[in-house]
Amino acid sequence: MAAPNHLYQYSLISCLAQGLCGDGIPISQMLAHGDHGLGTLASLDGEVIIINGKAFQYTSDGSTRVLAHSEITAFLMVTFFQPTRSVQLRTLTHHTLMDEMSTLFPSTSNHFWAIKIDAHFERIEYRVAPRQNYRGEGLAEVTKRQRLGSFTQRRGTIFGFYSPCFTSAFSVVGLHLHFIAEDTKVGGHVLGFKAQEVSLQGAVVKEYQVQLPETEEFQSELVVEPDRDMIMTAEGWPR
Ligand SMILES: [Zn+2]
Repeated sequence: MAAPNHLYQYSLISCLAQGLCGDGIPISQMLAHGDHGLGTLASLDGEVIIINGKAFQYTSDGSTRVLAHSEITAFLMVTFFQPTRSVQLRTLTHHTLMDEMSTLFPSTSNHFWAIKIDAHFERIEYRVAPRQNYRGEGLAEVTKRQRLGSFTQRRGTIFGFYSPCFTSAFSVVGLHLHFIAEDTKVGGHVLGFKAQEVSLQGAVVKEYQVQLPETEEFQSELVVEPDRDMIMTAEGWPR
């Protein structure tokens, strides 16, 4: 098994931005590198979260399923999560999360953080990206059709990563979090939340490994750094 809190990633956010995400590798290959993570499937089909070694997919039609290990991912970040610091909090919101993480891990903002939040969510807003309409459709266009959802007063878990500024061609800079309700029936890409009875756990990621695609699409086009504002609009917190 790989070392704990070592981040392993398949493909690049730049590839999603350019729509080079119709194909990829089986989930099974990624589960060999981590038991917690997030990402999407081939053709940007929904939101994926991996918790305790189990992968779930949420699709834009509202369905949920446990992913078979043969399913193909086009972008995934995973780690064998082993929290090194944790704190119990009465309340936590997406606005206060960075402050809490900075308190837990001072002077580490040029590292990644792995973040897990178990809580009672007073409210949570999320989105689920739909499948590409055509091969090569980019992230900005796809997320214009995203399904927005919310729920109130439920227990659940958020898992994700903070990615430092210099990774903007590789990852979603800042916080990128997915969540799963306790009953696993609801989940998605987190846009905002307010939580109570919070258990916040984290770890600093000091090693980062990226597996580049070997797909036909990836070879077909020069991959360039994506526009930051476009990524923030497609993936970031509402401003
Ligand atoms: Zn996401």
